[in-house]
Amino acid sequence: MKPVFELKCWVKKLYRQGGKFRAYLDELEHTETMALYELQRLQNRRLRRMVDHCVANVPYYRDLFHALKLRPEDIQTPDDLQQLPLLDKQTVNQNFERLIARNHQNWLCQIAKTSGTTGSPAKFIRDFNAINFENAAIWRQWRKGGDFGKKRVTLRGGIIAPVAQTEPPFWRHNPANRELQMSSFHLSMKNSRAYVDEILRFQPKVLYCLPSLGALLGRFFRHHGVSYQFDRIFTSSESLEPDTLAFLEETFQTRVVDWYGQTERVAAIGQCHLGRYHIQEDYAIVELWPSNDADTYELVGTHLHNFVMPLLRYRTHDFVTVDLSSCACGSVFRPVREIVGRSGKTPIITPEGCHITITAHITCGINNLLETQFQQEKPGEVILNVVTNGQFSEWDKAQLIQNTLQYTSPLMRVEVRKVDEIPRGPNGKFISIVNSAGMERQGSVV
Ligand SMILES: [Zn+2]
Repeated sequence: MKPVFELKCWVKKLYRQGGKFRAYLDELEHTETMALYELQRLQNRRLRRMVDHCVANVPYYRDLFHALKLRPEDIQTPDDLQQLPLLDKQTVNQNFERLIARNHQNWLCQIAKTSGTTGSPAKFIRDFNAINFENAAIWRQWRKGGDFGKKRVTLRGGIIAPVAQTEPPFWRHNPANRELQMSSFHLSMKNSRAYVDEILRFQPKVLYCLPSLGALLGRFFRHHGVSYQFDRIFTSSESLEPDTLAFLEETFQTRVVDWYGQTERVAAIGQCHLGRYHIQEDYAIVELWPSNDADTYELVGTHLHNFVMPLLRYRTHDFVTVDLSSCACGSVFRPVREIVGRSGKTPIITPEGCHITITAHITCGINNLLETQFQQEKPGEVILNVVTNGQFSEWDKAQLIQNTLQYTSPLMRVEVRKVDEIPRGPNGKFISIVNSAGMERQGSVV
């Protein structure tokens, strides 16, 4: 099996970093140095190209423009986009086929499934160039952070080893990326020494992780009295709370660089070397849509590079607080103070003591779900509060329970509760996991 896995790693690397990857990376490293007016001119050109394509080739937009009595030339700049309605996930689900460009060859496209922050499943199609562009944007961030292809360890929510497996190895080696991929589903005190020893053996220079999982790994190192220094830690996919940031930097004696993106790939935010967050203005058109809270804005994004299934004015349901002061790093990209929409570090704790913060695998592919919240009141039990579209069947429910057992623990007791709505937290933020079962504090031993 090992040679097959290794071959897959090389093919995947070729796929993500083939085609226009190198050209995109060079271009992105240039566009971030552009003056604002130059960048705006470039983005306007790209926007017009995308709108022309949408109206000519995508049935959903052709009909939308017709209904609104708009012509493609009515959209010249990001401000003109306001003539179009916002697009949400439900509309994408209802119009999936009509959002696919008719002139597009499906060769090398990829279907991405997500449950997003709200646990509402959806799927999107990306073309080969869009995949190359995404990887180039991420690589720019890594290179800026100091990683030019060093040995790395990743703890990014992957399953890696079967959940029911009780003995190491809970990891595998990806030779194409010089990477040690570690399972996020076996991180427990019982397995902690095995994780620490494997990292000491592999000697990675960089850690790629979800903040909650990096912190858990840090607690293992501290618990076993082992000191380890990374050259850099790159985090993404969850809120990076100040206490987690401080804990990671102190434990692994390095700087943390954070990144925000989403499966829909309509907006990206990265930290500069001063630690400030900047909207990646050359990645997409990003609008800041006012929310109920005066200081908080929803990220609304428009694709400029994905021509197979373009999203115009897509609502991410992720929010930022705006920072009006300029950044001393000199970037013309708009700074934001905080990204408040991402799920936090609260875990579901399994009967075996593992911490599960990733729930996307559980709700992915379940039909008729609109929102899902995981609630833990007692150890070893989890309640799934679900908002459905009314057609949620017993089969869907059984599948949801099955997935929960598969991706948490076969010993977990699972209850599914239908609810009319899931109350939002502060700033309208959706909270995907609520745990009142006696959580350990950050920094304490698991
Ligand atoms: Zn900056």
